[in-house]
Amino acid sequence: MDKIKVAVIGVGHLGRFHAKKFTEIPEAELLAIVDINPERIEETLNLLEEKRHSIKTFTNYKEVIPLVDAVSIATPTITHYEIAKDFLFAGKAVFLEKPLAHELSLAEELVEISIKKNLPFQIGYIERFQEPVKKLLQNVRDPLFIEAHRLSSFTERNLDIDVILDLMIHDLDLTLLLKDYKKIEFIHAVGAPLFTPLPDIVNARVVFEDGTTCNFTASRISLNRQRKFRVFSKGAYYVVDTIEKSYLEVRVDLQKREYKLDRKSFPESDPLKEELVSFIKCIINGEKVKVTGESALKSLELAFQIKKQVENNFKKYL
Ligand code: NAD
Repeated sequence: MDKIKVAVIGVGHLGRFHAKKFTEIPEAELLAIVDINPERIEETLNLLEEKRHSIKTFTNYKEVIPLVDAVSIATPTITHYEIAKDFLFAGKAVFLEKPLAHELSLAEELVEISIKKNLPFQIGYIERFQEPVKKLLQNVRDPLFIEAHRLSSFTERNLDIDVILDLMIHDLDLTLLLKDYKKIEFIHAVGAPLFTPLPDIVNARVVFEDGTTCNFTASRISLNRQRKFRVFSKGAYYVVDTIEKSYLEVRVDLQKREYKLDRKSFPESDPLKEELVSFIKCIINGEKVKVTGESALKSLELAFQIKKQVENNFKKYL
């Protein structure tokens, strides 16, 4: 069987690791890497060590369109629409980093094109491939309260989007999966642009029609990193930490007034490799990708509702 010929577009902080992982997937052939910045290309070739000699390099992504079967796009969000659209129109399978696009209408258009052309179109919600998150999604029934903290320290990267599209979107995605995309009744969100012109810290309270209440905090100006997602349901609560790669399930025996703890950690898991393997296998087997454009659109829609509230509330309090 022929290998799937792949290119990675944008080999900055994240894309270089996409490139590295593709070289470790036997069913894929990393044919090319592309970046408008030749320094990023050189750094990535160094990371690829002896495999560097077989890899073509380009500064213009359009040149690789006819050469590949599939592409992974890890460029800044404002460029996602244009690049993904060109590959989809050319009939190529596309892995696109999150968030889908910087505007909802552009994201909708990309999803529509991928459906019309019946192409594998996977979005980079890497958290879904984290082992503790998989365990959480398997075990939680009827969540009543969700609390998520996703904090990062400030970097010069991804400043084309706010912290909602940059970080909070992962927790929105997981929540909508847990709630099976049920209807939302109420949103209140506040935030502030502190280091950049866009909100860098945001808190959102989202209440579903059935009463499930979610409290999301995302910051990209914290001193320490944190990735904690807690879910409370009747008689149990769950804590997932995707930095520690740990899972904790606490069951409450109300009669004995006792806690039963189930603690697991997954130090060896490699969610980036797993999501790219999954993408390649879906291309080969003709299966539906695990993170579809349609599902990514749902969390983007919620992100945009939160964004609007933050902007309105910020103006109100000024
Ligand atoms: P980065 O700035 O480090 O890398 C982006 C790279 O794209 C840069 O090297 C830049 O030179 C290059 N680039 C810009 N325009 C280009 C173009 N037209 N053609 C080719 N190359 C181009 O940013 P990053 O942190 O690697 O983020 C990239 C994307 O990945 C963003 O969409 C971000 O939201 C996403 N991301 C996702 C996760 C995740 O958890 N899934 C984590 C980090 C970043």
